[in-house]
Amino acid sequence: MLLLGSHVGYKKDTGLVGSVKEALSYGENTFMFYTGAPQNTIRSTINLKQVEEAFALMKEKGVVADKVIVHAPYMINLASSDEEKFHFSCRFLQEELKRVEACQMKYLVLHPGSHVGQGVEIGTQHIIEGLNQILKEDTTSVQILLETMAGKGSEIGKTFEELKAIIEGVEKKERIGVCLDTCHIHDAGYDLDHFDAVLKEFDQVIGLSRLLCVHVNDSKNERGSHKDRHENIGFGKIGFANLLNVIYHKKLENIPKILETPYVDRLYPPYREEIRMIKEKKFDPDLLQKIKNV
Ligand code: FE
Ligand code: FE
Ligand code: ZN
Repeated sequence: MLLLGSHVGYKKDTGLVGSVKEALSYGENTFMFYTGAPQNTIRSTINLKQVEEAFALMKEKGVVADKVIVHAPYMINLASSDEEKFHFSCRFLQEELKRVEACQMKYLVLHPGSHVGQGVEIGTQHIIEGLNQILKEDTTSVQILLETMAGKGSEIGKTFEELKAIIEGVEKKERIGVCLDTCHIHDAGYDLDHFDAVLKEFDQVIGLSRLLCVHVNDSKNERGSHKDRHENIGFGKIGFANLLNVIYHKKLENIPKILETPYVDRLYPPYREEIRMIKEKKFDPDLLQKIKNV
């Protein structure tokens, strides 16, 4: 079954029920949310009654609950050489894993981190140290999915080898997976005109069994640009055919595909129309205009 969803909001008053309702309004059968705003680390306690309600609604409407993804906030940086920032990131993630569990979710996507000038090797050591510390004390069974990064600034995780180096250092490897972001790998230099070769490389370096989530985004920039600017499906430099190829790839069949494409004019969520277009398998050059007119 095609598992297709998008990033949806999570608000304190409506909790997980609100997120499910938003996903349903776009015609999705899975989705991704942050346990608060993506940009900050202010978090409220998870409302368990809303979680129960959300699960009942998902069951009723056919949303595949065990493929729903949680994403950690951007500010978290395990690669930081700044003690305070590092410890804050560890503590936050420890709490976040508990929130993910309270939401009865299984996967937390995490940006590995940015070394901010110390170099990939030192940054990687910090990430490993952080993950080992967190997982040593953690009592949940949530899996942390390290995301492939575009290599913007000093981001670590821009090659499969960099992710592999992190995984190799983690003691509880069974708790680690990977989230592949099409915009990020394209911006990092991987060629999505030849996705089979990319997947083969992923399999050889990391192992396909670790791949548990795919972020499907087009890119505003050329391959290798290291920019990380998402574009709507089919309107960027990756292109519709290449993205369809990822979405419908046989080897990725049971993996949730999550859209993180930009709102049109920063105002109109594109997901309902993008999902329709993906299911019709036919590119619609007027899609963005239609989204604005809905
Ligand atoms: Fe991400
Ligand atoms: Fe992403
Ligand atoms: Zn991105």
